[in-house]
Amino acid sequence: MQPEHDWTGAGFATRAIHAGQDPDAATGAVVPPIYQVSTYKQDGVGGLRGGYEYSRSANPTRAALEQALAAAEGGSHGFAFASGLAAEDTLLRAVLRPGDHVVVPDDAYGGTYRLIARVFGPWGVEHTPVDLADADAVLAAIEPGRTKVVWVETPTNPLLGIADIEAIAAHARAAGALLVVDNTFATPYLQRPLSLGADVVVHSTTKYIGGHSDVVGGALVVADGAQLPVGLEGPAGTTTLADAVAFHQNASGAVAGPFDAWLTLRGLRTLAVRMDRHGQNAAAVAAFLEDHDKVTHVIYPGLPAHPGHAVAARQMSGYGGMISFRTGSVETALEVCSRTRVFTLAESLGGVESLIEHPGKMTHGSVAGTALEVPDDLVRLSVGIEDVADLIADLAQALA
Ligand SMILES: *Cc1c(COP(=O)(O)O)cnc(C)c1O
Repeated sequence: MQPEHDWTGAGFATRAIHAGQDPDAATGAVVPPIYQVSTYKQDGVGGLRGGYEYSRSANPTRAALEQALAAAEGGSHGFAFASGLAAEDTLLRAVLRPGDHVVVPDDAYGGTYRLIARVFGPWGVEHTPVDLADADAVLAAIEPGRTKVVWVETPTNPLLGIADIEAIAAHARAAGALLVVDNTFATPYLQRPLSLGADVVVHSTTKYIGGHSDVVGGALVVADGAQLPVGLEGPAGTTTLADAVAFHQNASGAVAGPFDAWLTLRGLRTLAVRMDRHGQNAAAVAAFLEDHDKVTHVIYPGLPAHPGHAVAARQMSGYGGMISFRTGSVETALEVCSRTRVFTLAESLGGVESLIEHPGKMTHGSVAGTALEVPDDLVRLSVGIEDVADLIADLAQALA
């Protein structure tokens, strides 16, 4: 077998295409094959070839994706799950116990909030929603000794708030809490939270990493040397976060299937070029919306008027493809959503095709009436990689 090349010194696009993806040892297949298999022949009891025993525990296609994700985020261990929420659920089970407390963004992804409030809440986990753009407010919300997780999303969904990862990491570390960053919107191409002090990165790979709206998946990438929250002992007495997540991934079993892992890995290979185009198109669309008289407020971290612009400019290498804007009335917002033709009215984001949605009635319906409720005149765009002139013409006719 050819020795695995070490891609750690390579650039992002090179790592995304090669890390974990050596040509197949048996056949030379250039791309990791889909190992659509549940179990593996043992050469005598316990004689595993390459460590594979049963596909819930490990599968070669999933392993390729997990190594590639770890390389993309600059972490030591990657884990692939059946969905973003499955990844989050596994992580939270690994690091929380009844009586613990979590700090959550006050405009977190609605499903994340629902998981923490309505699934973990009844198991005795408490939470405090906080405006993450305000690092002092985060500090005030942390209860030393009881807060075990500080959950960061940046940019947030759908209000595109920016959190200063480095500043919040210092507060979390001082309190012995884990810093989790949901990096779904930025992607590892634009932002690498582990290098800014996060312990673990969460992804809905359904979005930009998959990139083609054809697969649901999730991932965790753990920082080299990351430990469980202070005072928590993991399975078999270990205190490393990676061991605890690996145990829970296998013990709970919400893993990505081989075909889903293969599709997600195919998406990851083109992430760099897609994100460049998403960002260019979004900047042009944001400029168009800013000049439009039916639009009262454009929310895009790349605009100098965005309150998080300076932090975003420091910790991101681009501003991504998501834009939200307000129209002054729920009627106008709903009408715009129903009149676009290039932008498809649909939930989700991060695919090559442009999408439009009304968060209040669609993605964020589950947080209505909570601290996370979003304005009802808000429209969210996932700007795709079509020709930008067509995108702007479509919005112009929808707003006319
Ligand atoms: C979609 C999304 C999730 C949940 O991921 P699923 O793959 O839908 O389970 C979590 N966080 C963010 C920011 C998301 O956009």
